[in-house]
Amino acid sequence: MQSEELTAKRRKIKPWVLIVLALLAAVLLLLLGFRLRGWLQQGQDKGLTVLVNPWNGAANSGFTPRPVELEGAQVDKRIRKPLQRLLQDARQEGLSPKLIAGYRSAEEQQALFDETVRELLSGGDLSENEAAVIASMRVGAPGSSEHELGLAVDFQEDEALFAWLQDNAWRYGFILRYPAGSESLTGRDADPGHYRYVGEAAAEQIQAMDATLEEYLSLFYGDSAQVIFE
Ligand SMILES: [Zn+2]
Repeated sequence: MQSEELTAKRRKIKPWVLIVLALLAAVLLLLLGFRLRGWLQQGQDKGLTVLVNPWNGAANSGFTPRPVELEGAQVDKRIRKPLQRLLQDARQEGLSPKLIAGYRSAEEQQALFDETVRELLSGGDLSENEAAVIASMRVGAPGSSEHELGLAVDFQEDEALFAWLQDNAWRYGFILRYPAGSESLTGRDADPGHYRYVGEAAAEQIQAMDATLEEYLSLFYGDSAQVIFE
């Protein structure tokens, strides 16, 4: 008799146990899903914070550009959507953003550098070495430009736009890459029109810290970013 009662009790309880277990399983799966998405996002973002500067070449960055067209410029496929949103929102604010540069192949970067050196030499006051140094700071030496990744864009000069970008670009995952006063850290002249995609999480932190990508990476990734402080 007793064992029959117990079996009956167990049978009564069973549906509730099943429901609770099912709910627990659903919650666990949901949490795992979120975590998994977070990990995937982090993995992707880490690739997008790739450092390219005079000390870290594009060819050895491990990043393979996948250029696609956007408003007359070529950009990496992974930044097309956030850039599109940025352009759209800027226009809603009454601004007129125009992309004047995006992805550049190694050959195109070489050609731009050579042309810049030629222009500087045509002034007649500089040695070839001096012209090369200035051109490296201005447009980037061949192999050292973020444009070779497709993760950077140049906006046409426009003060109202530049002011808006400084305050808002991070919301779309972009940072002002060459701020004034950071020339020795970035190896490049200040450039208010050059924006670099690093992903939303990194952009938010870099904006809050008012840092360069070099400083940010040296804080979070230590020696993996070879940063030269002068
Ligand atoms: Zn640029």
